[in-house]
Amino acid sequence: MAPKRPGFWKRMFGARTASRLPAAVASSQPSEPPTGPAALSGVDALPPHVRAATPTALATSQPATAVTPLAGPAPAIPRIVAAAAALPMPAGVTAPLAAAAAKAAMSAGATTADAKPSIAAAPAKNTDTRPTSTLSPPLKGTAMTKYKLEYIWLDGYTPVPNLRGKTQIKEFSEFPTLEQLPLWGFDGSSTMQAEGRSSDCVLKPVAVYPDGGRSNGVLVMCEVMMPDGVTPHATNRRASILDDSGAWFGFEQEYFFYKDGRPLGFPTAGYPAPQGPYYTGVGYSNVGSVAREIVEKHLDLCLAAGINHEGINAEVAKGQWEFQIFGKGSKKAADEMWMARYLMQRLTESYGIDIEYHCKPLGDTDWNGSGMHANFSTEYMRTIGGKTYFEALMKEFEKNLHDHIAVYGPDNDKRLTGKHETAPWNKFSYGVADRGASIRVPHSFIKNDYKGYLEDRRPNSQGDPYAIASQILKTIAAVPTAATATAAAA
Ligand code: ADP
Ligand code: MN
Ligand code: MN
Ligand code: MN
Repeated sequence: MAPKRPGFWKRMFGARTASRLPAAVASSQPSEPPTGPAALSGVDALPPHVRAATPTALATSQPATAVTPLAGPAPAIPRIVAAAAALPMPAGVTAPLAAAAAKAAMSAGATTADAKPSIAAAPAKNTDTRPTSTLSPPLKGTAMTKYKLEYIWLDGYTPVPNLRGKTQIKEFSEFPTLEQLPLWGFDGSSTMQAEGRSSDCVLKPVAVYPDGGRSNGVLVMCEVMMPDGVTPHATNRRASILDDSGAWFGFEQEYFFYKDGRPLGFPTAGYPAPQGPYYTGVGYSNVGSVAREIVEKHLDLCLAAGINHEGINAEVAKGQWEFQIFGKGSKKAADEMWMARYLMQRLTESYGIDIEYHCKPLGDTDWNGSGMHANFSTEYMRTIGGKTYFEALMKEFEKNLHDHIAVYGPDNDKRLTGKHETAPWNKFSYGVADRGASIRVPHSFIKNDYKGYLEDRRPNSQGDPYAIASQILKTIAAVPTAATATAAAA
């Protein structure tokens, strides 16, 4: 790629920051030796917009002295205990997991009668017939098991909340249902959710998933409530979003693996070979030695949890990947996306790797940004649809452009530039199979008489799926369907 003119990073991120960028970013020439420390770490290593958005993730960055060349041997293997599908687990561990995943998926509102063939709520059945290990025997009757409940919630940081979690141990005779899980509390003054003396906030469980990374582990997605336990906290977006179980969402989460302040696989100074071979690539020079192991383990953790993880691909930039999560209903789909993000962040801790969700972490360069395309369909779109309805829908999306951009993730103007398979953020467009449009209309949609799903390509990788899904439903709700139009005319 073309070297940047002197002063570029100063203009991009401000003088103070430019001088403190990591060598990989600050150095304009691949051959140029790094000026200053080889790679600054922590908060100082990132542009200010990234810093503001990810305060907690940065606190764990390695000191500059800990920098190791990325081409070296893979880091030590982490301790994932039970990524169910990948490891030959004793039946006693995976069978309860699979059963619990199915149960959790059911209690979260999943149905088996749907037209979309690719959704599997539970991981594959374990056929291992070896004797049950002593690790986690299935307990019958009145025997109680101590479950590790990880209560997970979104904090009050803006513009992007952080995931938080803490564990409590509770005894149950079998994998707990949502109804069995008690309210819990936390210190909101440490999460931007309370001030001063009265700092207690309440955690209200809203979805439960088996935790394949822990024996007898339970992942508990929570909403944050006021001390009365019933009033949603101001930071609790989920409580007030629009939902509709007939509305299906498929989110494509793109992200970068970051190590030592730069994308995984980037040299300490300068850039790797330009974009081209990395997207869906294979081989060490394209994806390195550790990324695939992580994304596979993440996939298994999601499947063990009963999350509708639908696929993985290496993305256009080096160190950039994508996974897809599908769900019926905005809350279900968004809960699963947040939980999948949580599992990814927890998994990569032991690799010394952070997830960089910022939509344009490498700034105005020839390196792609990260999106979270939102594929959506309502029951009406899937079963009735039609050209007239579709065109009215697109008009409504155009009319509400600013409402959508407002919740599609911060700094989206840096990503939606018209380059790198994006449309300019301030101009709405749609097109058949057009990856340079705001909304891409799949070929199948046209072939099927304007029925099916659409892809809004504008939401970015840091966007809140609760808010994104809700805004899409709000815009859809403003468009009359054939039925409502007839009723209005009568
Ligand atoms: P691409 O990279 O070509 O844009 P992906 O295969 O990564 O597409 O993602 C497509 C997404 O569309 C998946 O997350 C999938 O779940 C979702 N999807 C498929 N059918 C529907 C539908 N009827 N309604 C909503 N989302 C859908
Ligand atoms: Mn995709
Ligand atoms: Mn993609
Ligand atoms: Mn897409």
